[in-house]
Formats: sequence, structure tokens, C-alpha cells
Amino acid sequence: MTTRGPGEPEIVVVGGIHGDETGGVRAVRRLREADLDLKRGVAFVVANPAAVNVGERYLDSDLNRAFPGNPAGDREERLAAHLRKLVQDRTTLSLHGTHSQPTPFALIHRSQPRQFDLAARMPVPHVVDHWGVNEGAITSCGLSVEIEVGPQGTEEAAVAAEHQADAFLKLVDALPGEPPTADPDFFHMADPIRKPSGISYEVHVTNFESVPAGTTYASVDGQGLITDDPFHPILMSADGYSDIFGYKGAKIADSLERVREILLN
Ligand SMILES: [Zn+2]
Repeated sequence: MTTRGPGEPEIVVVGGIHGDETGGVRAVRRLREADLDLKRGVAFVVANPAAVNVGERYLDSDLNRAFPGNPAGDREERLAAHLRKLVQDRTTLSLHGTHSQPTPFALIHRSQPRQFDLAARMPVPHVVDHWGVNEGAITSCGLSVEIEVGPQGTEEAAVAAEHQADAFLKLVDALPGEPPTADPDFFHMADPIRKPSGISYEVHVTNFESVPAGTTYASVDGQGLITDDPFHPILMSADGYSDIFGYKGAKIADSLERVREILLN
């Protein structure tokens, strides 16, 4: 961890929760070496340096399923316990990479409702509440937002990660200047879409775009898969995961005001 700016850190920027997602790691390393005019203390963190060094998602278990962590657990459970202490009373940006398009988008958890307000101000087209699936992420602790920046390991992802970090630091008043305008829509991520066994996979739908019931959404070895239910695909890709295509999502609303009304009722 490297702290920059005046006083104790109040803000945290994290890369490398997953060691094979290098865009966020490069952004964190560039930002902590940069000559930034910081108005608040910022901790720049590479979360799992041992996994980053070997280019693996994790060593013992998935760090972003290990929160709130366990000081007596495996390597990632211990790291999660340590990170939770850092982020639980601070405002945090966590940078991830992905295999799917389009990116970037934000991920939050509705157990921390202030995350909706934070994510709504990030320069992303979509905010995804992942409550109920993929529990144990950093978003279960404190005021944090995760951004999926783009294809893993590309320069494009590193540039996007830096752009997102710059916007985040402006909107929490850690950097001078106005953040870019933002007007995302909001989704809830639900069931994973299982991959039948096969050799070649194709996806025929676009992430975040409505898929009506009866659509052939993917193929396995040329055999089409048809959905009985309408959904919005999230993190969907042919070869990003070994066991799933991605997730079925549902649109919550087009605006933060409408999200608040829905969640209050
Ligand atoms: Zn990740």
C-alpha cells in the first residue's frame, strides 16, 4: 500500500483483487508514481501482489468471494480480512478487468445503499447490483464501487482504469476539477447461465441489451440454446468462464431517483 496526499488516507483505490486483471494494477502503479495534486489522503493498493506476480486470478481462493475475510483462513481469506479493515470506513474504488463487452460498467451491492449514489456518478453506462450472486465481494464492506474496465491485460483496459480512477478521485474531491457527467441505467445481476459441455461456444446476444423469451442466445458446437425467459445479459462471453456464459440480468430502472423509489417500496 502507498499513501499519497495530505493526512491519513480517506480514499482507497484498489487494483489487482484478481491477479490476472492487469489494467487496474497498472493504473494504481501509474497513479501512485504520478505527480497528482491530491486534496485528500489516498491509499493506492495492489490487493493481491503474489497473484499479480504469477498472473493468476488467485492463489488459494477467489479474493472477491472471501470478504469479510478470516484472519485464520487461507491466503486470500487473510488478505480479505486485512483489506476489510482498510476499506470499511473509507470510500473505495476497486478496478477489475473482464472478457466481456461492452465495458466499462460498475458493480455494487444493495446491502450498502450509498453505493448506488456513488456508482451513479461514475462515467459508466451501466450500474449492476450483484446482490444474491457472487457474495463475498469487496462491495459487501463499506462504501465501495467496482468498475469492470475492459479486456484483461490490454493497454485499452489500463487507460480505461486510469480514466475511471481520475473520475473517482474528482468526484470524492481528492483531485481538483469536475468529474465527467454520468447518467447510467441500473440492473440486477441474477442467475448464472450454465455452459453445457462442448468444444466451441458462440454468444448471439449483446450485454445489457434486452433478450426476449424464445431467443437463441448462444450455441454449443453449432447447436442453438433458446431462453424461456426474457433477460438482459451481463458479463456474457463465449470463453470468459469455463462453466458459465455469464449472467441473466434484469433492468431495475433508468435513473437513480427511480431506483430509490423501487428500493424503498
Ligand atoms: Zn476481477
